[in-house]
Amino acid sequence: MLHKVLLIFFCLLLQMPLQAQSNSRVALRKVVIDPGHGGKDPGAVSINKRHREKDITLAVSLMLGKLIKESFPEIEVVYTRSTDLFIPLDKRSEIANKEKADLFISIHVNSARARSASGTETFVMGLDKSSSNLEVSKLENSVIVLEGDNYSTKYEGFDPNVPESYIIFSLLQNAHLEHSLSFASFVQEQLAKGPVKTNRGVKQAGLLVLWKATMPAVLVELGFISNSSDLAVLLKRANQESMARSLFTAFSNFKRVYETGGGGSLAVSAPSKPLENNKPILSEEKKIINSEEYYSIQILAVTKRLNNNAPDLKGLKQYDYKRVGAFYKYHTGVHTDRIEASEALKVIRRKFPQAFIIRIENNTIVPLK
Ligand SMILES: [Zn+2]
Repeated sequence: MLHKVLLIFFCLLLQMPLQAQSNSRVALRKVVIDPGHGGKDPGAVSINKRHREKDITLAVSLMLGKLIKESFPEIEVVYTRSTDLFIPLDKRSEIANKEKADLFISIHVNSARARSASGTETFVMGLDKSSSNLEVSKLENSVIVLEGDNYSTKYEGFDPNVPESYIIFSLLQNAHLEHSLSFASFVQEQLAKGPVKTNRGVKQAGLLVLWKATMPAVLVELGFISNSSDLAVLLKRANQESMARSLFTAFSNFKRVYETGGGGSLAVSAPSKPLENNKPILSEEKKIINSEEYYSIQILAVTKRLNNNAPDLKGLKQYDYKRVGAFYKYHTGVHTDRIEASEALKVIRRKFPQAFIIRIENNTIVPLK
């Protein structure tokens, strides 16, 4: 009985994107703009300690919101903060979830030990946090997703404790991932025009602030506060306005694609370049999940690098790889402890029976203790 029910869910799921594209116009009604940091958390600070990330992110966020309201009065703009206020990371996506927003934009400024590091980049949730996402908050998240429009009646009997349910749920997350990638690509396309010209591209990372968002969600890094030329650009009001306009143009482009059913789960808008093997980032909002030391699940080892749609990946969208000798070792998931990784492994083995737990420290696979 259970399997039959799950099969029906699966069929419904597969139909939904098709229906959305063929006969309904989905309006983008609400956007949540999240100015990074705030209050007691200054975010990244300039080398001379005089300039703080939280001030730049707030200025650009408010400008972006204003531009959206002016051009699209029917769209509701919600800020996670509109003043110098401390908001915990989990609270930020929680606000977006509660608001049932259609898009979540978290705005940040980067920092690196190497002062030469410069440029803009946009992150989407990656490294497959989704499996532990399901473990930690499967009930809460599934309730939010299932509350949407016509889902609730169809999903009666959905049991988050049944492994098959996780797989269904991760399909839903992939649908958001592809919209996130689509928006992220628009953002980088616009930001690349300047004033911070170096385009570091669209990337994936295990970002806590995006982790639980139940809508397309990105984190934009406007430049490096640790780089003197980026900083000089970021501090000028005219440049902040220009960046807000770039984000607004990206938003308009995304809105058009979103509302005509493109860039969704079936019409994948590929990022401008393949997602690279991203070294975990140092800035604070990412450090919280300690992305430099974690457990992950190795799914395969191959001698040639795979492209995003390689059959060997079996449709998996959130993964990373490490080069070890002649091999590219593909892995998925960022898990802080081994118990969490074991739970994720059970789910992943349904698709990759050979999968096993690995430990990663400083971007290198190390022996399990
Ligand atoms: Zn930040």
